[in-house]
Amino acid sequence: MAKTSLSKRLWREELVGQLPTLSLAFVFMVALAAATAAYAVLTKLVIDRLDGLESGVDAVEAALGFATSIAPVLILITLVSGLAMYGQRILSNKLALNAVASLQKRMFASAHAGFFADMTAEPTGTLVSRFVSDVGVVSNTLIRVITNLFKDVLTVLFLLATMLWFDWQLSLLILLVYPLAFWPVIAIGNRLRGRAKDVQVKVGDITSDLTESFKGARLVKTYRLEDRETERLGQSFDERIRLMLRVVSDKAKVDPILEVVGGLAVAGIIVFGIYRVIGGASTVGDIGGVLVAIITAAPRVRALGTLGTVYQEGLASLERIYALIDRKAEVESGTEELGRATGAVEFRDVSFAYPDGTQALNGASLTIKSGETVALVGPSGGGKSTLLNLLPRLFDPDAGEVRIDGQDIREFTLESLRRNMALVSQHVTLFSDTVAANIALGREGATRDEIIAAAKAADADVFISGLEQGYDTMLSEDGQSLSGGQRQRIAIARAILRDAPILLLDEATSALDPATQEAVTQALSKLREGRTTLMVSHRVEATAGADRILRVENGQIFED
Ligand code: ADP
Repeated sequence: MAKTSLSKRLWREELVGQLPTLSLAFVFMVALAAATAAYAVLTKLVIDRLDGLESGVDAVEAALGFATSIAPVLILITLVSGLAMYGQRILSNKLALNAVASLQKRMFASAHAGFFADMTAEPTGTLVSRFVSDVGVVSNTLIRVITNLFKDVLTVLFLLATMLWFDWQLSLLILLVYPLAFWPVIAIGNRLRGRAKDVQVKVGDITSDLTESFKGARLVKTYRLEDRETERLGQSFDERIRLMLRVVSDKAKVDPILEVVGGLAVAGIIVFGIYRVIGGASTVGDIGGVLVAIITAAPRVRALGTLGTVYQEGLASLERIYALIDRKAEVESGTEELGRATGAVEFRDVSFAYPDGTQALNGASLTIKSGETVALVGPSGGGKSTLLNLLPRLFDPDAGEVRIDGQDIREFTLESLRRNMALVSQHVTLFSDTVAANIALGREGATRDEIIAAAKAADADVFISGLEQGYDTMLSEDGQSLSGGQRQRIAIARAILRDAPILLLDEATSALDPATQEAVTQALSKLREGRTTLMVSHRVEATAGADRILRVENGQIFED
């Protein structure tokens, strides 16, 4: 996306809605700019007064009178300036943080709404870095842009006005020469965007490497891979530093260029100023005023000069953020409400290929009666999981259709379709929350009694009650304090609570030892009662209790 359209979009989507705050910030900035310029005016008045000072009692009295009248004015200006400084700082931060929070929310929603395969293809860490690192960069840039574009531009304009008033010929001369310094600065800014993007991509890689490495702590330790991991991550850290240094070296060039130009301007003013005072074209106060104005303006002009580079850095991150927000939701919700389904399921000539071209299903057909338990077995990669994922519409088939109760599932709203399903898989997902809350994920608004009843039915109540804080025990992301069988029973309790007519079991017992497997299988068979069940397993022994066992191979379904 072009840079103008990126920033226009940010303006339209995140800032227009905050116009009242923006306007108030603008008012504060105008006040601050005016107060700053007032210092230059005061300087001129004071110098002219000192310059005209003569000896004598009358003169001393007049000078004292001038001093006592100017002191309160100065104090008033500093008060206004302090207040305005505070107000504009708070408001511009608030604007930027609001915009960033909104970006994060939209990114998160579209990451989840997006194509399941897209989401699982990107390493978690890379995805996370867009929420943390890129968003941080955009927030900093936004604050800089708001402050610089308004506050600094206004201040420079006010100062320019006073300079023109003091001595317009001298000021015009400065105006002609000063902007020449900006050519190299702009060129640097343009190059910087690409370099800044490289840094953000690298940060994403590092975040993903870190997550992987910490998640794999067990493997790392048992295989003594610490050195290898330290070496691997070390290279990434070094590479990031190398890329960042390129950005830093670009940014570092800007300030000195502007500093030198500023110095030249000051030297010029002094030389030409003396001629003008001698020639009577200007007063000493005028030249003093111009000097103060130029020295006050210099840091602001420098900030504007470096703004270009900061802006490019922000755009690089904004591009990554919008790329995620714009990810298309691959499945579109239907319009029809599916009430409680009877649970008759049919796959009719279903074909599906993953975005990378892998043909996972090839004209698969299967009819399951309501309440029936069908087990799918077969070689790994045969297409079992893909078939299962079609039911909650994690993706849609390229050809053929999936039906529930005789109707194409694309006609139902996603919400009502998914409400009719419960999933228990090999990898039990636990969130950092209490045991009760993790079970309650099965159904929104479940009461404590219902949660406990579900846990009892899943044969989980006994071990949960034995935990230190029972149902209020906090679980961690990976629930490492729980055994595989315990995790699985929480998942079953969740599914029991959901009470959905269609049950999807994806290798639900395959990671367990034989004794636990036995117990979990029993809990599962209770759960299966009265529900249509699709059970995926690569081992035939795990299919006990199934009404039918089918083999899935090369993307097709065969009677076994
Ligand atoms: P099974 O569950 O029987 O082991 P899958 O349904 O997982 O089989 O996989 C079927 C085929 O699709 C395999 O060739 C597998 O490599 C491929 N596949 C699975 N998931 C993805 C994915 N996210 N992207 C690309 N190919 C995939």
